[in-house]
Amino acid sequence: MGAQIDTISLGIGNCHFIKDKGAIIVDSGDTNKAKKFVKGMRKISSNPEEIKLIVITHGHFDHIGSASEIKEITKAKIAMHEHEKDWLEKGLMHLPAGLSKWGNFCVVLMKVFYAPFRTIKPTNVDVVLDDSEFSLADYGIAGKVIYTPGHSSGSVSVLLETGEAFVGDLAMNKPPMTFSPGLPVFGDNMDTVKRKFLS
Ligand SMILES: [Zn+2]
Repeated sequence: MGAQIDTISLGIGNCHFIKDKGAIIVDSGDTNKAKKFVKGMRKISSNPEEIKLIVITHGHFDHIGSASEIKEITKAKIAMHEHEKDWLEKGLMHLPAGLSKWGNFCVVLMKVFYAPFRTIKPTNVDVVLDDSEFSLADYGIAGKVIYTPGHSSGSVSVLLETGEAFVGDLAMNKPPMTFSPGLPVFGDNMDTVKRKFLS
C-alpha cells in the first residue's frame, strides 16, 4: 500500500502531507497561513508534531511563505536547495519571470497585488540539498528528493517509489495560471523545464 497523501490549501500555494512509516510535508504555502495549516491538519486527523521534515520545492513566496511558523509548530527540519536557501534564511521576496504573455501579465499582477503585502519570516534551513538525490528513507518515506531546475534554479521535486511526484511549479494545472495541466507560465528557463518534464 502507498503512503497517505493529503493536500492542504494554504492561500495560492499548497502544502502536501505525506505519511508512511514517518511523515513529511512538501511546501509551506503562502505567508500567514499557520492557522490554516493547523486547521487542515486537524481536518485530516493528523498531528503536526509527527512531521519530521518540510521539503521546500523552491523559494517563491507561495512555497516558503509559512515555513517559519510551520517549523515552530511541527519542530520539523527544513530541506531546501542550496541555490535558494538564502531566500528563506533572509526572508527575501523573489518573483519568477513570465514564460508566456499570460505569464508576464500574471507576474505584473503579483508585483502589484501580492508582493508588497507579504513579508516572509526568515528561518534556518537545516538540510541543504544539492544537485544529487536525497533519500527520504530516514524520514520513513519510500521516496527521494531530486533536483529539477527550470522554473527556478533551486527547484526540487519529491518522487515517491509508488510513482507520485510533487513538482512545485515545474508544472501547473489550474486557473488562473492555466486551464489544463501542462508547462508552467512562469520560470527561469523553458528549455530546462521541458528537459525535466519530458525526462
Ligand atoms: Zn514558483
